[in-house]
Amino acid sequence: MKSRYCPHCGKAKKACICQWITPVSNDVPVIVLQHPDEVSQPLGTARILNLSLEHCHLLVGENFSENLELRTLLGKPDIDWHLLYPADHATPAGELQNTEGRKTGLILIDGTWRKAYKMFQLSTSLHPLPCISLSGIAPSNYRIRKSPKAEGLSTVEAACLALGELSGKPQDYYPMLETFNKMIDFQISQMPSGVYERHYGKQAR
Ligand SMILES: [Zn+2]
Repeated sequence: MKSRYCPHCGKAKKACICQWITPVSNDVPVIVLQHPDEVSQPLGTARILNLSLEHCHLLVGENFSENLELRTLLGKPDIDWHLLYPADHATPAGELQNTEGRKTGLILIDGTWRKAYKMFQLSTSLHPLPCISLSGIAPSNYRIRKSPKAEGLSTVEAACLALGELSGKPQDYYPMLETFNKMIDFQISQMPSGVYERHYGKQAR
């Protein structure tokens, strides 16, 4: 039987996002820890990161304490991994100082706020990692009102902001926001007339 889903992006074939993907070379390597519920979300954005970024690992699970792949990645000797997570002691990403000869790596949790919180609590291997937060969020640049995620930024938007702040080259990551916008535009175009306005307001479209 032929699958309804694209084997590359995991979206339904008619909603395939592969045509909009632009390769992005990133100095800051990325690990995305994805909650299993996010894997088949039509509006999930972690796949955009995984498909666009040259250096990106997408791991699916809830409790990563014993995850061998994560352990191997965290064990790389030349990378200082940082978790994008709103902990009390988080450092704004833009203020992070690079240690000479070492790379900064970015870890993101892909899940609703409630699930991300649980994943962090369960995954003790993440607890020793330094946390970073986003410094300057510019909502007008990111069409948040078009984002159907009630929690605010989607994973790809948060990643683009963090990568931009960490690398000092935000424009390098704009192609991924373009992909995101095209995906959202497509999804909106598939909604029956009036549904989008009822949920997200008239001006947003
Ligand atoms: Zn695809």
